[in-house]
Amino acid sequence: MMVLTKKMIEIRNILSQVGQMQALQLPSIVVIGSQSSGKSSVLEAIVGHEFLPKGSNMVTRRPIELTLVNTPGSNLEYGEFPSLGLGRISDFTAIQRTLMDLNLAVPEEDCVSDDPIQLTIYSPNVPDLSLIDLPGYIQVAGEGQPTELKSKIAELCEKYIKPPNVILAISAADVDLANSTALKASRRVDPRGERTIGVVTKMDLVEPERGQAILKDKNYPLRLGYVGVVCRTPSTGYFFGKNANITNAISKNEHAFFNAHPEFSPESGTTVGTINLRQKLMTVLEQTMASSLQGTSDAIHQELEEATYEFKVQYNDRPLTAETYLAESLDRFKHSFKGFTESFGRPQVRELLKHELDQKVLDFLAQRYWNKPLPEDLTRVRLDEKSLAELPKADADSLYWHRKLDASTSSLTKMGFGRLATNVVANALAQHMERLVTESTFREHPFAKKAIQDATNTILNERFYSTSDQVENCIKPFKYEIEMDDREWTQSRENAQKLLKDELKACEEAMKQMNNTIGKKKLNQAMSFIDKIRDGQKVDMGQGTEAFGFSQALLEKGREALFLRDRAELLKMRMYALKSKQCTNKANKYYCPEIFLDIVAEKLTSTAVLFLNVELLSEFYYHFPRELDNRLGRHLSPDQVEAFAREDPKIRKHIDLQQRKQLLELALEKMESLMALEKSKKHPVDED
Ligand code: GDP
Repeated sequence: MMVLTKKMIEIRNILSQVGQMQALQLPSIVVIGSQSSGKSSVLEAIVGHEFLPKGSNMVTRRPIELTLVNTPGSNLEYGEFPSLGLGRISDFTAIQRTLMDLNLAVPEEDCVSDDPIQLTIYSPNVPDLSLIDLPGYIQVAGEGQPTELKSKIAELCEKYIKPPNVILAISAADVDLANSTALKASRRVDPRGERTIGVVTKMDLVEPERGQAILKDKNYPLRLGYVGVVCRTPSTGYFFGKNANITNAISKNEHAFFNAHPEFSPESGTTVGTINLRQKLMTVLEQTMASSLQGTSDAIHQELEEATYEFKVQYNDRPLTAETYLAESLDRFKHSFKGFTESFGRPQVRELLKHELDQKVLDFLAQRYWNKPLPEDLTRVRLDEKSLAELPKADADSLYWHRKLDASTSSLTKMGFGRLATNVVANALAQHMERLVTESTFREHPFAKKAIQDATNTILNERFYSTSDQVENCIKPFKYEIEMDDREWTQSRENAQKLLKDELKACEEAMKQMNNTIGKKKLNQAMSFIDKIRDGQKVDMGQGTEAFGFSQALLEKGREALFLRDRAELLKMRMYALKSKQCTNKANKYYCPEIFLDIVAEKLTSTAVLFLNVELLSEFYYHFPRELDNRLGRHLSPDQVEAFAREDPKIRKHIDLQQRKQLLELALEKMESLMALEKSKKHPVDED
C-alpha cells in the first residue's frame, strides 16, 4: 500500500499553514503541454470528472494546485477550495465554474498570473496525488493578447518544472514529438530525462505503427517512459448523467482501442492506458516523495529551530493563545474594575453631586441676588468694615427678601434634581469606564471597546428612569419644608464662604487672563470708557466709537471685564456679609441666602446619594462583570476570539509565531514517524 504520498500530503497541508516557503515545498507532478494537446482530458480522466475550465479564450490563467485525496470506503466525491472557505462542493460543474471565475479574474491584459489556485478533490476513485496544472503553451499570441504572452507562459512553467517536481509532459500523437513544446521545455531542465513522464494523447488519431514508434521514442529517452492514452472525454451530461464518474467509460473506450492493435500489447514494450498512467504517477510520486524525505525533514528542522529561537528571545517562551489572551485581558479588566468600584463610592458621588448643586446655587444667587445694578452709592464702595456698617440693613421681615429666598429654594428643589443627579452619576460612571478601557489592553480592540461601552450603557439605561424617579420622590419633602439645626448652619456657613471664595478666585483668574491677553492699560481704557457711558456722562459718539480707539471686539471685552470686576466686588461684599455676626445665627437666614441655599443643597445631596448608591452604583457594580462575561466571555465563537486577539498587532505576531512553531513541531513529528516507517520497510528485520 502506498501511504507515503497520502501522509506527505497531510504534512504538506500542515506546512502550507506555516507559509509558502520554497524549502518546505514537497514534490508535485507538474503538468505541461501545448494548448489542445489534450492536457485537460488527461487530468479529467485521472480525476474521473470534467472539472477544468473549457473555452477558446485562454481559460487557464493561473496554476491550479490540485490535490487528490483517496477516501476509501466513502462514496462521496467532492472538491474544496481551501483558501476560499466555500466548503464541500459535490457538483463538479460548480467546481468548473469556480475555476473559470478564478481564472477569468486575472485581467485580460496580464493573461497569466503565478498566484496558484488550490483545489483538493476527495474521492474513493482518485489516487493520492499532488498535481499542478499550468496554462497551456501557445505558439503565437491570439488577437487582443499581449505579444509577450508566449514567453510569460513559458516563464511561469519554468518556475514549476524545477526539481524535485516530476514533469508530466503532454504531447499529442498527431504532432511530431520533435516539435512538442512540453518535451522541449522538460528537456531543458531535465536533459537526461530522469524526472519526466511523457504522455502521448490522441493515440487514436495516428496509425498504430506510428503510435508505437512514438512511444518508443529514442530521440529523448525518458527513464520513467512514455504512456499512450486515448482520453477524449465523453459528454457526461448526455450519456451518463450529471456528475457521473467517467474514468470507467474512458478506460473502456481505451481498452477497446489498444486491444484491437497488437502494436500496443504488453509484449510490445509500450505502456498505454489511463489506468497505467495513474499507477505510474502514484509510484513515481511516492518514490520522489521518499527520496525527498530527508531533505524536507532537514528543512523543517531548520525552520523549527529558527522559530524556537525567536520565540525564546522575543517572548521568553511565554505561551499565548487567543483564548488565554482574552481570558487574561478580561481578568485584568475585571481587576481594574474592582479597584475602581472601591475608589468610587458614596463619598465620591456625594462630592460630584454637591459640586453640581453648588454651581446651581451660584447660578440662582447670580440670577436673584446679584443681577441688579448696585445702587449708585455701592458701586464704588470700598469694602471695609466701616463701609459695611453703612450697608442698608435688609429687613428680615420684609416680604421681598422672604420671596426671594423662597423662590431660590424652590428653584433648587424643583429643578428636577432626580434626573440631574442620576445623569451626573451615570455620566461619571460611563466616563470612568472609558478611562478604564483606555488604560487596559482592550484599548487596542475596537470590538471589546464597543462591548464594554454597550454593557455599560445597557445597565445604566435600564436603571436610569427608575433611579431618577426614586431620587425625585425622596427629595419631595424638601419642596415643602427645610428644617435645619445649628450644626448644619455652622457647616453650611463654612461651605458658603468657601464657595464664594472659590468663585472670587475664578473671577480674578479670568480677569488676570484678560489683562494678559489684551493688555492691562488698553483694557482699563475700554472699561473706563464704558463706565462713563454707563454713568450717563456725555460722550461724543458722533465720530463713532472707533474714533476713540476702541474696536467693537475690545468694547465687548471691556464689558466682560466690567462684569468680572462688579462680580468680584459683589462677591467680596458678600464674603464680608457671611463673616459678619448676623450670619452666625440661623434665624437670620434671609440675610444669608448663600448659607441657607447651601443647607438645601446639602440635604438634596445627602438624600440623593443614599438612593443613587443603592439603585445605580451597587447595581452597576454587581451587573457589569456579568454583562462583560456575556459579551466577551464564553459566548464568543473560537473564530471571534481569534479575530479579537488578532486585532492587536503585537499579540498577532506572538500568536502567529507560536502557531508556526507548533505546526512545524507537528509536521516534524509526522515526518519523523514516516521516516521511521520507511526505514522499517527497507529493513524489516531491524524491526524487532
Ligand atoms: P488542452 O487544451 O490541452 O487541455 O486539450 P483538451 O483536453 O481540451 O483537448 C483538446 C481537444 O482534443 C478536445 O477537443 C478533446 O476532445 C480532444 N482530445 C483530447 N484527447 C483526445 C484523444 O485522446 N483523442 C481524440 N481523438 N481527441 C482528443
